[in-house]
Amino acid sequence: MRLIIMGPPGAGKGTQAKFIAEHFKIPAISTGDIFRANVSEGTPLGLEAKRYMDAGEYVPDEVTNLMVRNRIDEPDAVSGFLLDGYPRTLAQVEELDGMINFTGHRLDAVVCLTVDQDEIVGRLLQRAQVEGRADDTEDVIRRRQEVYLEQTEPLIEVYKQRGIVVEIDGMGEVSDVTSRIFEALDQTPES
Ligand code: ADP
Repeated sequence: MRLIIMGPPGAGKGTQAKFIAEHFKIPAISTGDIFRANVSEGTPLGLEAKRYMDAGEYVPDEVTNLMVRNRIDEPDAVSGFLLDGYPRTLAQVEELDGMINFTGHRLDAVVCLTVDQDEIVGRLLQRAQVEGRADDTEDVIRRRQEVYLEQTEPLIEVYKQRGIVVEIDGMGEVSDVTSRIFEALDQTPES
């Protein structure tokens, strides 16, 4: 199973990604988490990424693409994976197509979480208090939302044209959202 989970910042991608990954026994690969791990370890990748992340901007495609390529080449991702936070740009979509085609596989589904914008700012500000993420201040959240609308939302249309988008209402209880996702994915072929 090769899946992508998409949605605006704060839509609950990371939370749902864990449940989906467990269910299908595939790794959840979060580019945001990998960047954050590198930032806290002070690696060169982390130092590079931090400049962009703190401003709410995207890390350059070359950097992100290489990181994802290396990650999905690892043994645990050979039989499938769930990507959270990637692709976020059209160039990343093309890069991912190349990576998947090269192995003779295909993308099974793109789960898109839809949420209410106002609800999201509240959720993110709350997360800032709990997790202390440097990019969860109100200004940076707004910038991340703008960047998402400009660069990432258009990707949904690209995947819709391929007929693999599964749209899920991301509002309400976490467990309800999870049930909606499983119900929708169980109807896709090869699940
Ligand atoms: P969010 O909660 O906003 O969805 P993430 O935790 O997924 O955020 O990512 C945090 C930050 O990491 C992003 O704002 C961006 O700077 C960087 N990042 C994550 N994934 C990508 C990507 N695919 N391309 C470029 N930058 C990325």
